[in-house]
Amino acid sequence: MFDSYSFLSAEELRKQRQIYRFITRRWIYEMGKWYVQKLHLPVPAIYPVTLIFRHFIGGKNIDEVIVTIQKFKPKNIKVILDYAVEGADDQKFFDQNLQVFLNTMDKISAQKDQIPFLAIKPTALASEKWLRIFSEENITTAGLEIYKAIKNRFFALFDKAYKAGVIILVDAEKSYTQNFVDKMVWEGMLQYNKDYPFVWNTVQLYRKDRLDFMTEEIRAAYLKGIYVGYKLVRGAYHEQEILEAQKEGRESPVFDKKEDTDKQYDDAIDLSLKNHSRVFFMCATHNKESILHAMQQMKAMNLKNNDEHVWFSQLYGMGDYLTYPLAEAGYNVAKYVPFAPISQALPYMIRRMEENSNAIGMAKYELQLIEKEWKKLKK
Ligand SMILES: Cc1cc2nc3c(=O)[nH]c(=O)nc-3n(C[C@H](O)[C@H](O)[C@H](O)COP(=O)(O)OP(=O)(O)OC[C@H]3O[C@@H](n4cnc5c(N)ncnc54)[C@H](O)[C@@H]3O)c2cc1C
Repeated sequence: MFDSYSFLSAEELRKQRQIYRFITRRWIYEMGKWYVQKLHLPVPAIYPVTLIFRHFIGGKNIDEVIVTIQKFKPKNIKVILDYAVEGADDQKFFDQNLQVFLNTMDKISAQKDQIPFLAIKPTALASEKWLRIFSEENITTAGLEIYKAIKNRFFALFDKAYKAGVIILVDAEKSYTQNFVDKMVWEGMLQYNKDYPFVWNTVQLYRKDRLDFMTEEIRAAYLKGIYVGYKLVRGAYHEQEILEAQKEGRESPVFDKKEDTDKQYDDAIDLSLKNHSRVFFMCATHNKESILHAMQQMKAMNLKNNDEHVWFSQLYGMGDYLTYPLAEAGYNVAKYVPFAPISQALPYMIRRMEENSNAIGMAKYELQLIEKEWKKLKK
């Protein structure tokens, strides 16, 4: 089912081939990272930066991204919009971001059928420094005002989402910031998920403790009579988590072996399906085996392909060979489409380049499929 690019037109295939041949080269990623992180120079909006930007980012602002995503409509592919800025430590920056999120919700509330989700990064609303402090320490009087300001931003979003009928997906970042984020999301779930899950958390299954976390929350969801929603991911900060734990002399929070992450990911799918009456979830992955696993388990439970509790999602510019056939087979599938000005989308673009240039990177597999299709076309 997931072994062809036949859904692309010849022109689309030509463009995909060009970009995939480019992004699968490790030296290009290394050079880009070096330029930005070592030289601290602003990113010039020149080719090939614009080529990479256009491939991974849906537009510079909400109006541009809304045009970009129109191509998904006839294919029955839904959209998760993500305002992809992160990483500053400035109250003005966070308040501005909140405003962008609120305005975005106003714009998409009339198009919920096509854009049912909005994703937010915690570090777009608060600094990593304070997220970590509130995750690891008791709140002091000095921190109380900041705590309240951050909580107000989260709840302004939850409240707006609930009223607009849009689902908020809170992304997960570094593990040491997550306790506080989990607390915000859980409080949001308690308030807004009584009849339908409007507030969802993200669970990173490379973390050793996450299946226990889900099990506990699901148990509490039954007791409180609420729904929980989870975006299931493997986790994007594997190397950094290990290095930072080593530097700080603590135990690594993530598995060392890929097989352990893979197993826990599929266990999280099983746990979610077992508690189908209370859990909505999204397999946010480019891993074909995990997707096939979810599909098989759904079938074993006699769930329809478009069961409203189960979603699949891939990032914009990646995994189209999964997204299109899933939609074609009637599964609920959403493309995760970021938008941001070029300079601010950089951390996001670097993470994607890193994934794609990785030795086991799925872009290499995608390139093989594209080349196969290209050869067929040229015959
Ligand atoms: C729609 C969508 C939303 C996402 N949102 C988030 C988010 O909010 N937060 C976030 O952190 N990530 C997020 N990601 C990225 C995700 O966590 C993964 O980094 C990425 O999808 C690659 O994992 P995979 O499941 O697709 O596939 P695979 O290629 O099968 O898995 C790669 C992943 O396996 C894990 N891994 C690699 N080597 C090892 C090892 N030696 N030991 C243990 N584990 C290892 C890492 O997590 C790595 O990213 C998102 C991905 C998608 C598709």
